[in-house]
Amino acid sequence: MFQQTLVLIKPDGLKKSLTGNILTRLSETKLEIAAAKVVRVSRKLAEKHYAHLKDKPFFDGLVKYILGELHERRKVLAMVYHGEDAIKKVKELAGATNPEEAEPTSIRGAYGRITTGGVYENVIHASANEKEAEREIKMWFKPDEVIYHIYPAKEVVKNNIQELEWA
Ligand code: UDP
Ligand code: MG
Repeated sequence: MFQQTLVLIKPDGLKKSLTGNILTRLSETKLEIAAAKVVRVSRKLAEKHYAHLKDKPFFDGLVKYILGELHERRKVLAMVYHGEDAIKKVKELAGATNPEEAEPTSIRGAYGRITTGGVYENVIHASANEKEAEREIKMWFKPDEVIYHIYPAKEVVKNNIQELEWA
């Protein structure tokens, strides 16, 4: 099944200079990159991305983490990987949420850590399932920024300019 999945290299991954290593690991999947950009994450986007965790005790720390406030750099590298079974392939390579429980050879197992503040700094985000992938890709990217469209988009005219919006 052809799928797309959202991958974020989180601020700790950027601070630790792991971008090259992570992209090399991801290229082992033979999936294609369908979108990529560096994002200055807003609080609104951070809270929306992690909305399912808003009642957890680590939520505030998690929002600080994805905003880059724990790593003095307010940016993440956001990408869409595209291809056969993309979600499962990337999720397996990323490894379990808790870096101490993740396969040692997975990205999180190799590079993640648990801070004394209790946040799992696990260097990468990967969508968990098709529903989450669709929600996340539409939240992080505009249709024009994604090379292949597997979700419908519609043309709209704003200030006399034609653009695409997720349908
Ligand atoms: N997280 C954490 N402590 C926990 C669970 C999650 O710090 O006990 C953080 C971790 O960075 C994780 C993110 O919150 O990647 C989102 O949690 P989720 O359960 O969605 O895990 P994921 O989908 O990232 O594996
Ligand atoms: Mg998740």
